[in-house]
Amino acid sequence: MNNDSSTIVLASSNAGKLKEIRELLEGLDLDIRPQGDFEIPDAIEDGLSFVENAILKARHACAMTGLPAISDDSGIEVDYLDGAPGIYSARYAGGQGNEANNAKLLNALKGVPEDQRTARFQCVMVYMRHAKDPTPIICQGTWEGRVITELKGTEGFGYDPLFYVPSEGMTSAELSPERKNQLSHRAQALKKLLAALS
Ligand code: IMP
Repeated sequence: MNNDSSTIVLASSNAGKLKEIRELLEGLDLDIRPQGDFEIPDAIEDGLSFVENAILKARHACAMTGLPAISDDSGIEVDYLDGAPGIYSARYAGGQGNEANNAKLLNALKGVPEDQRTARFQCVMVYMRHAKDPTPIICQGTWEGRVITELKGTEGFGYDPLFYVPSEGMTSAELSPERKNQLSHRAQALKKLLAALS
């Protein structure tokens, strides 16, 4: 592995996120490597906020590689569920994966009328120069929508087939990857992060 000093580790093992982030960074003069390239284990995410978990992930990747790192902590907040699943979005159904998470969410909102199904995707992205960096760069993106009553669309990942985007009249799993990357919480956070870095 070439550990050139311009290399930045992408502190995520989520294939859906990695694909989107790589596409967003395409064409930039940055050598971004997923943490899988370094065979490092996932960080323990025991923070109580997206910000804390994003910092934990970036710090872990820096510590394991000696390189700067960018992390993404994200999830869906549903108003009717007081913000759940929130930071626990990935493990909402106990770590059984996306299908089980979506089924649990549909069940939790069974019979809830459309106007009470408002939700948003949140994404916090963090850049850390090194594991002891006392001033990580922290950027946030939010994407408003609502949870529909059945899965629609095959693009994206996670809760995308349930997340209806009113401005587009479709779910985020029905959007093209290019369109999602113009609108999403992740795209917004990363855009801010790149502006701060430059
Ligand atoms: P994390 O890896 O702990 O940040 O968990 C993120 C989880 O939030 C993912 O596993 C998905 O369940 C959900 N999530 C975050 N961003 C998206 C998205 O863009 N589409 C669909 N689900 C998402």
